[in-house]
Amino acid sequence: MQVIHDFFGSFGGKYVAETLRTPLDELEEAFKQALEDSLFERDFNRFSKEFTGRPTPLLFAENTTTLLGGAAVYIKLEGLANTGAHKINNVLGQCLLAKRMGKRRIIAETGAGQHGLATAAMCAKMGFNCRIYMGETDIRRQRPNVFWMELFGAEVVPVKGVSGTLKDAVNEALRDWSSSFEDTHYLLGSALGPAPYPDMVREFQSVIGREVKEQVDKLGLDVEVMVACVGGGSNAIGFFSQFIDCSKPRLIGVEAGGRGSGPGEHAARMSGSGREGILHGYKSLFLTDEEGQVLPTHSISAGLDYPGIGPQLAYLGKKGRIGFTTIDDTGALEALRFFAKNEGIVFALESAHAGAAAIKLAHEIPKEKAIIINMSGRGDKDIFILAREMKGRQWSNFLKEEVIRNEN
Ligand SMILES: *Cc1c(COP(=O)(O)O)cnc(C)c1O
Repeated sequence: MQVIHDFFGSFGGKYVAETLRTPLDELEEAFKQALEDSLFERDFNRFSKEFTGRPTPLLFAENTTTLLGGAAVYIKLEGLANTGAHKINNVLGQCLLAKRMGKRRIIAETGAGQHGLATAAMCAKMGFNCRIYMGETDIRRQRPNVFWMELFGAEVVPVKGVSGTLKDAVNEALRDWSSSFEDTHYLLGSALGPAPYPDMVREFQSVIGREVKEQVDKLGLDVEVMVACVGGGSNAIGFFSQFIDCSKPRLIGVEAGGRGSGPGEHAARMSGSGREGILHGYKSLFLTDEEGQVLPTHSISAGLDYPGIGPQLAYLGKKGRIGFTTIDDTGALEALRFFAKNEGIVFALESAHAGAAAIKLAHEIPKEKAIIINMSGRGDKDIFILAREMKGRQWSNFLKEEVIRNEN
């Protein structure tokens, strides 16, 4: 049984306006009760199997292993989960919780749209009214996901703001919730925000780590390193969950190195210049200027493009249990290409950061050991970015033809 924490070291907490105390306390109570209830677990397992398609495979990347000549490379294929990424695990847990609490309406923020997509799909399945807050800039950048969310019956609400991205969407969702919590659950998408969200999201995402542990034991692998990309930190903390309290394997979180180390060019908080601060209801490390103003971020992958990091990861990073490194935009693209060519799978650009870090490490590790990469999502959603980067002329000709066809 997991303990509920308000703080991880000095990180975390519940730094919210008075109005949000009530719904957060109510949520914490419901979460505690659900953890004690075998019916909750039964429902979670049933939906995971039937709707999400769990367990997801642990793939032996044979060609990669041979090419790199070091550790045996394994890939946890979260990208095969319904809606294409690990986000659905947390969405499932919170939707079941919202049902228990008698809520009828779900609101969520989304950046790239993967969390919004998973939320919209689960709301369709479970019969919730669903509203997704999304920055105006992100709506423009991630059109296909907006299309799918609307197909699932969700209302996608554009949020204006300085940047019109995820940060603004979270603020807007919190604002909605403070006056709607009677019938509404706020389904936060990563292992951050005020307590109990960091614990709750880790708990629901730890299904990844439990499966990996079982799969590793069954294969008798001697795992030296586990690697995951880190946006807010939910896929990483879920993937690492069963190994945090052990001294082995090495755990590595990969942040977005973007296009440079200057302010606004990356999203490296642990491995870069994160400063202690409070945003979105929790204390952690954030990319801010000297006056504490949140800096813009950049990554080729929208999912890693967030100025903060979940409090538990920040704590474990400071303590030294988890190491952090960065991969830049180019490195992520190269890794994506590498795994497509050699393994026949397309990583999401986010996950490709983890893949790239693993490629760098694998050859230093002896053959009899294993390295596991968490492929947090698949890359279908990134086709507009990839095609532009890899097949510029051909792709823009195709788009022009489509526009003409559309207009006729
Ligand atoms: C959202 C997302 C991420 C980043 O979020 P975390 O909370 O850090 O896991 C990473 N990969 C994919 C595919 C995503 O959709």
